[in-house]
Amino acid sequence: MKLILATGNLDKIEEIRALLFNLDLELIPINHWPDYLPPPETGETLEENAKLKALAAVQFAGLPALADDTGLEVDALGGQPGVHSARFAGDEATYADNRHLLLSRMRNLPPAKRNAAFRTVVALCLPNGETKIAHGECLGVITNEERGSGGFGYDPLFYVPSAEKTFAQMTAEEKNSLSHRGKALNNARALIQHLMPDVRGIPG
Ligand code: IMP
Repeated sequence: MKLILATGNLDKIEEIRALLFNLDLELIPINHWPDYLPPPETGETLEENAKLKALAAVQFAGLPALADDTGLEVDALGGQPGVHSARFAGDEATYADNRHLLLSRMRNLPPAKRNAAFRTVVALCLPNGETKIAHGECLGVITNEERGSGGFGYDPLFYVPSAEKTFAQMTAEEKNSLSHRGKALNNARALIQHLMPDVRGIPG
């Protein structure tokens, strides 16, 4: 069975592939179709954006599609950057630009005021219009300097107390075992098997 990954973000594609490895699925990133134009992410919530990305891919390719929308919610910033995490420092912002802005907005805040959460919403859409949603979250603390060189995005600033490391200091397996995306994809796995009963689990 084919499932489109409705994201052009190679970092996410790599994580999603690792997280769904034990399903008998052919995962096809949407940029396999070079003339596909992703929809603007105009939703006000992660769920709206995940749905609009998955639906646009289904309508384009006529195959089931899965999309992930993720936001970093920082308590001291009233939940920002949240749904705007990719564009926190502007439309053309790089991962590094966004991290620098986050660090500068949080300069001088004590540890007790640095709590944050990563939230992921995964939308799974079928060509018949059926849509299911899965959620995952990971609680953490924003560090006051970058730590580690793995992962992507805000990973060097996101410290997970139970692991005593930032996401960027973890192996890919460690991050996937406790991350927002890992939890959301775990929940999505059951939905995939429910909506697409021909998809078998691969043992081991
Ligand atoms: P979106 O879901 O593509 O809108 O991504 C939002 C932004 O959040 C990305 O551009 C990254 O900067 C960041 N992001 C998403 N997932 C992660 C993650 O697992 N670790 C660190 N940053 C992430």
